[in-house]
Amino acid sequence: MTGGQLNGVTVLVVGAGIMGVGIAQVAAQAGHAVMLYDLREGAAGEAKTRLASSLNALVLKGKLGADAVAQTLARIEPIDALQAAASAGLVVEAIVEKLDAKRTLFQRLEAVVAADCVLATNTSSISVTAIANGLQHPARLVGMHFFNPVPLMKLVEVVSGLQTDPVVAQAIFELSQAWGKVPVHARSTPGFIVNRIARPFYAETLALLQERAAQPALLDVCLRAAGFRMGPCELIDLIGQDTNFSVTSSVYEANFYDKRFVPSLVQRELVDGGLLGRKSGRGFYDYTAGAASVALPAFEALELGATPPLTTALCVAGRGAVAERLASRLVSAGCAFERDADADWIGLSADGAQLRLTDGRPASQIGAQVAVFDWPLAQQGGAALAWAASSGASPAWLALAPQWLRVLGFSPRQVADTPALVVARTLAMLINEAADAVLQGVCSQDGADAAMKLGVNYPAGPFEWLQDWKRGAVIAVLDALDAHYRGERYRVSPWLRQRTWTEDGT
Ligand code: NAD
Repeated sequence: MTGGQLNGVTVLVVGAGIMGVGIAQVAAQAGHAVMLYDLREGAAGEAKTRLASSLNALVLKGKLGADAVAQTLARIEPIDALQAAASAGLVVEAIVEKLDAKRTLFQRLEAVVAADCVLATNTSSISVTAIANGLQHPARLVGMHFFNPVPLMKLVEVVSGLQTDPVVAQAIFELSQAWGKVPVHARSTPGFIVNRIARPFYAETLALLQERAAQPALLDVCLRAAGFRMGPCELIDLIGQDTNFSVTSSVYEANFYDKRFVPSLVQRELVDGGLLGRKSGRGFYDYTAGAASVALPAFEALELGATPPLTTALCVAGRGAVAERLASRLVSAGCAFERDADADWIGLSADGAQLRLTDGRPASQIGAQVAVFDWPLAQQGGAALAWAASSGASPAWLALAPQWLRVLGFSPRQVADTPALVVARTLAMLINEAADAVLQGVCSQDGADAAMKLGVNYPAGPFEWLQDWKRGAVIAVLDALDAHYRGERYRVSPWLRQRTWTEDGT
């Protein structure tokens, strides 16, 4: 079987909820005859009526052609009984997220559809291997995991269970492409690709909140400045604290309580208190005043402050993109400075005090007159950047360090002296999780990058960040976190470690 053989087949979509209707729309727009079935009587017809009114509204706005919409709608037929679907060449299931319900449905369907009909499940968290258990032909069951809203989100995770025939997975991969999507192969493991690799984006912020390293708005501003469309706190409020907590808990449980995925007490308290985010009016932020969204300054103009004394003896330490960036900023600011390219750290020394790019260690562990700053991803001047000072820093250096950060083009945000600050910590853990996913054969490097960019709109993929930050720096950050906290959470993925031994030491 090839994707070509699925072209033009009749598609049965089971479950006429938010995902099922989106899948029916996309299949019909690609020219398939679509049957839509829902357990609740009348639900499929009502869903089609709702779809018609939203598509017709897009016609009125000039975004879709009237003929195309009429043809799409004409191809979607609500049906009242599964028995009417005997002619389907592909079933896409989007019913309630319960293993028993999905298993029972597919077992019933096997008695209705032909032996070569492909069975696809849109499950977001249940094992495809487990759903296939008990089927007469488990090899034809595959995960076809769309993202919400289906017509807009490009990613489809094509999830193979233990018994899925690779030919069936490839057929769904090619069909997804024909439907205008970007498919990525994944192995059926907890969270598949996106929901697994994304866990640290939330978890590291929750850990920082738990140790009171910073407030939610500061963490959101720093991660937005790194290119994320939303910071973790505002995003969790949008998703719902309860939904986010339950995905984390299910990934944690499914991984036999691996400490890497341990849920957060901070979030548990919000859930227990009914502070679920936007939907309840309050989560990390307060929405009761009717605010549709929290206004966070993504980038602030360079704040004017006292200029550091120009007589300071300055030296830019280290090599690489960040050192070059600091040097060019000093040139623009008209400051004279020396270079020490052989230094084993990256940053600026000012009359002997050090402003260092984080290597993962807290500033206090490095020395007294030390401040550390976060990985600067944003190229825009004035982007928010976390920094922290050593507990031994003099009052003079405490005042000067953020001023130098301003001269260097950042909008400094002080956080507690915590290892790897905000962006470095989060990105290193995202990279580490992606590395483990590749190690375990869940997906390829390209697959992980595409999935995170298209499934959750990350500004770059984890392996693209790894290119920029080099394995040595990422491992140093993870090792520093591991040394600081102890336990399994920050263990370095063997995939990263092995490449450092066998490749060029970057
Ligand atoms: P939903 O609650 O909006 O819709 C589910 C529909 O399935 C309901 O209309 C319900 O009546 C129907 N249904 C329940 N049991 C049925 C059965 N046995 N036979 C036929 N119909 C049945 O849910 P949703 O958000 O569309 O999610 C559906 C599936 O898609 C779930 O597996 C979910 O995990 C997955 N998913 C959801 C999202 C999302 O963001 N909502 C994203 C990706 C995947």
